[in-house]
Amino acid sequence: MGAVVSLHLFAIGLFAAQTELRWRELLTFVALTICGAVCIEATRRLGMPAGVSRDLLSAWWLPAALLLPPVYALLAPVPLQILLQLRVRPTMLFRRVFSAAAIGLSALMASLVFHGAVPAPLESPSAWLLGSGMKIMLAVVCGVLFTVANTVLVAVAAHTSDPKARWRGLFWNRETLILDIVELCLGVLVAITCALSPALLLVTLPPVVLLQRSLLHAQLQAAARTDAKTGLLNAAAWQREADTEIGRAQRTGETLGLLIVDIDHFKRVNDGYGHLVGDQVLIAVAGTLRNQLRDYDVVGRFGGEEFVVLLPRADVAEARRVAERLRSRVGRLAVPVDDTLITVTISVGVAILRTHGDDLIELLAAADLALYRAKELGRDRVCVPVVATPAPSTGDEAAQPG
Ligand code: GH3
Ligand code: MG
Ligand code: MG
Repeated sequence: MGAVVSLHLFAIGLFAAQTELRWRELLTFVALTICGAVCIEATRRLGMPAGVSRDLLSAWWLPAALLLPPVYALLAPVPLQILLQLRVRPTMLFRRVFSAAAIGLSALMASLVFHGAVPAPLESPSAWLLGSGMKIMLAVVCGVLFTVANTVLVAVAAHTSDPKARWRGLFWNRETLILDIVELCLGVLVAITCALSPALLLVTLPPVVLLQRSLLHAQLQAAARTDAKTGLLNAAAWQREADTEIGRAQRTGETLGLLIVDIDHFKRVNDGYGHLVGDQVLIAVAGTLRNQLRDYDVVGRFGGEEFVVLLPRADVAEARRVAERLRSRVGRLAVPVDDTLITVTISVGVAILRTHGDDLIELLAAADLALYRAKELGRDRVCVPVVATPAPSTGDEAAQPG
């Protein structure tokens, strides 16, 4: 990070010394910065909790890189990162400084490549409309260069601070890629309109602000549905989805299974290794549950070390098979901590629609009773409540592990 920031400062000094001050360029730079600031202010009141961080500010940084001399590409992120820090969400200062440097250096690369082919982009604005296919293609290529360079710098920094992070996850994410493409297209469009006349920024600003706001809204909605620690649905969102699924199963007459999963003796993990390690185990268990289930199964974190799973169209045999698979996979999980491997087991209570209950509350109660029974019988097992029949019953039936 120190190297990137130093290089950024050095490059600012180097290119500032080579740049002649031209009013048109300075005014364009100020106008682009004001547009970025308006975008930030227009979304600020929606709030930006931790984890919600995606914006479309490259729509203003990219035009600065393409249209103005390289020093402006280096400077463009500085005022907007300061504004983000002061007005939106204060984060650790070194992160802000690094972000500004990474964006500035990536924009510098794009700027140098573009200006190598188009020396004075602001001088012949009509060329952007007439026979400008190649120029626009080059602008897109430079936009890609900017995005890739920034992604690489951020990924290397993220990997250095957390060597366990997977490279693939840092580089490849479908949602991020789509947003990168949108941002790049916006940047090129803004660059073209701004080259025609900086006054046209007034026309491009409202749609960009609107896009930025709807993007933030979508991120906030997703954040409100998920449990921040595990990435699964939170209890409220799970309950809403479960209610919908149960309503559908009631109408169509299909079966449906519900599982409550509880980690055994989880307190011992916390007591023995600390809460942070406990969190790592929780995240690993949640990941295993998600990976072992079908896309349309609804899995959520109910609270603490308890998870809930809804299995549409599963009958008792199927629900039990799934529960056994979850139990065996979680049992085989080994979370590496320092020089030991932590293993945990789970107990699962199962309930089936119409057999053990007719709505969500009844199903949860039945599964919870079965879970209680699994704990009583020694944990690391799956229990299904036995339906009361006229014949005398000995209680719940437990599926022994193995
Ligand atoms: P049992 O087998 O009976 O379920 O025993 P247990 O120790 O798992 O159950 P208990 O309910 O006694 O303890 C649950 C523990 O889970 C206590 C609580 O500190 C811990 N816990 C709850 N939420 C979190 C969390 O988000 N992170 C961590 N690290 N621990 C949590
Ligand atoms: Mg437990
Ligand atoms: Mg519990």
